[in-house]
This record gives sequence, C-alpha cells and structure tokens, in this order.
Amino acid sequence: MSGAALTRLDTVILRLEAQRAGLDWAVGAIAGLAGPVLELGLGNGRTYDHLRRRLAGSRDIWVFDRAVGAHPDSIPPAAFLVLGDLRETLPEFAARGVAKAALAHADLGSGDAVATAEFARWLGPVLAPLVAPGGLVLSDQPLAAAGLGMIAPPAGIPAGRYHVYRRA
Ligand code: SAM
Repeated sequence: MSGAALTRLDTVILRLEAQRAGLDWAVGAIAGLAGPVLELGLGNGRTYDHLRRRLAGSRDIWVFDRAVGAHPDSIPPAAFLVLGDLRETLPEFAARGVAKAALAHADLGSGDAVATAEFARWLGPVLAPLVAPGGLVLSDQPLAAAGLGMIAPPAGIPAGRYHVYRRA
C-alpha cells in the first residue's frame, strides 16, 4: 500500500483479507482439538459460509445474530441458529451445556465505534469460558478476559487488523 491515506475501499479489502487469512489459519490450528465453532455475527453470512466450507461438515457451527439478514445461500440450519441480542443469548447459551468451542469467531463491529468498544468490553469475559482450553478466539475487536491470551496474528493479518487469542 502506498503512503496515501487508506480509502474506505482499501479498509474493507484489508479487513476481508485479514478475516480470510485468520479463518483459514484457525481451521488448521484447531485440527487436533474437539469442539464446535461459535460464529458471532452472521451478518451477510460470508464468514459463516467460509467456515462451513473450510470445515466441510467436520464440526457443529453455532451462529448468533439479532436476526437473519444473510444471503439465502448462507443461512445456518435453524437448530444451530441463536437469534436475539447476544447480551441475552450468549449467557443463555452458556447455560445449555453445549461442549466448549474449539474456535469462536466474533465479527460484531458496527459504524458506532463507541458502542462497538463497549460491547467488546462486555463480550470478552462472557465468551472466554465458552472456549475450550487451547481453543482460539478470532475477533474484529480487541477483547480482554481472564484466561484469554493474545497471540501473534498469523501471516496475512497486519497487526491490529484482527485479534487472535488462545484460551489458557
Ligand atoms: N461476519 C459477517 C459476514 O461475514 O457477513 C458480518 C457480520 S456484521 C459486521 C455484524 C453482525 O453482528 C450484524 O449482523 C449484527 O446484527 C450483529 N450484532 C452486532 N451486535 C450484536 C448483538 N449485541 N447481538 C446480536 N448480534 C449482534
């Protein structure tokens, strides 16, 4: 990238490249670890579609969002779709006794930087216990929680563009 300021298009491309690099790396990195995947933020369904194809049916993928707004090709099975505000659905999900996740991917950022940062502060401590020891968390926002150790992003993710954690 030249020294010129990034355009919004540049920023979107860098974010999507970082997402893809992170998800591809994570799918390989959890190969020896049992557990489902948590996809927080279905949105258009792009990252969900990427994960389900890369995982090729090898794991359950639980998908969370307020409502379904995804492309019709990328709508998860109803049994694995958890709809509603995460502030309510994630604690309820934690009480269900589902196996701890090998990977949690959080892509929850909005155009409201203050609200996004506040939500990320809430999310970290609630999400961390849902991840298996040795499991990974990939997040578009920085997270902080006991038991979540930041690890260096894999190749293809510029520093600060996506955030990678391993559960102790
Ligand atoms: N990963 C998606 C993709 O590849 O298409 C994009 C996700 S989009 C950036 C963020 C999504 O997070 C939105 O669909 C939004 O509804 C959801 N979201 C944000 N905050 C949420 C909350 N508190 N509870 C439930 N869903 C939330």
